[in-house]
Amino acid sequence: MGLNDTKLESTPEHRLWVGVGAAAVLGMLTKAVIAAHSPEDMILIVTSMFAGYLLADLGSGIYHWGVDNYGNARTPIVGSQIDAFQGHHKRPWTITKRQFANNIHAIARPVAFTLAPFLALPGNPALDSFMGTFLGCVIMSQQFHAWSHMKKSQLPAFVVALQEKGVLVSRKMHGAHHRSPYNINYCIVSGIWNPILDRNRVFSKLEAFIHSKFGVAPRSWFETQGEWLQEGGYFEDGSEVSSEL
Ligand SMILES: [Zn+2]
Ligand SMILES: [Zn+2]
Repeated sequence: MGLNDTKLESTPEHRLWVGVGAAAVLGMLTKAVIAAHSPEDMILIVTSMFAGYLLADLGSGIYHWGVDNYGNARTPIVGSQIDAFQGHHKRPWTITKRQFANNIHAIARPVAFTLAPFLALPGNPALDSFMGTFLGCVIMSQQFHAWSHMKKSQLPAFVVALQEKGVLVSRKMHGAHHRSPYNINYCIVSGIWNPILDRNRVFSKLEAFIHSKFGVAPRSWFETQGEWLQEGGYFEDGSEVSSEL
């Protein structure tokens, strides 16, 4: 992935990691159900899954804000992700051309490692269902992100319905993130946290704090920098997001 990456196909290695990540998520959810012994436990599972889904959106926003604004391709551990997000701002439509496993393998891999120790623990309905759903949504966030970049006519009807109900991040909401000043709507699961974070200027306050403490300015303060500028259109055909919404 990254600024110079043009490979959009899934490799056997990509598919393997997505398979391992999916197995780990399903393993956690299965473990939660096996550990449930009462109707109260089942209610706990449903509540924990909902909490996992809600918090995954917040997590996706914090992570996206971090990689959009700080570090570079040489940053340890997350350098390739920073490079990928910068490349995404330059050529937004390429995400719609990535095959499924190519798009999500980079997140599926660390998720599989994170869940491995939890899979070895004794079953716990609340913890297992929360972790499984939270990290399952984290893996899928790049797919939800890809869907938010497609034209309505390119999407299956159920995806459009979920976007319009606010279950998944909408095309309109994410389209606004790709316009100057590039510092709103960072969340890419449901987008439910976007108005809360933006109205309260949470990221702006964090940026000001980091700048005052460490002297590091976020990239979004320099919105005319080359890193942000799109090459060509928002969509593959060269058209802009405003033409679709
Ligand atoms: Zn971004
Ligand atoms: Zn995007």
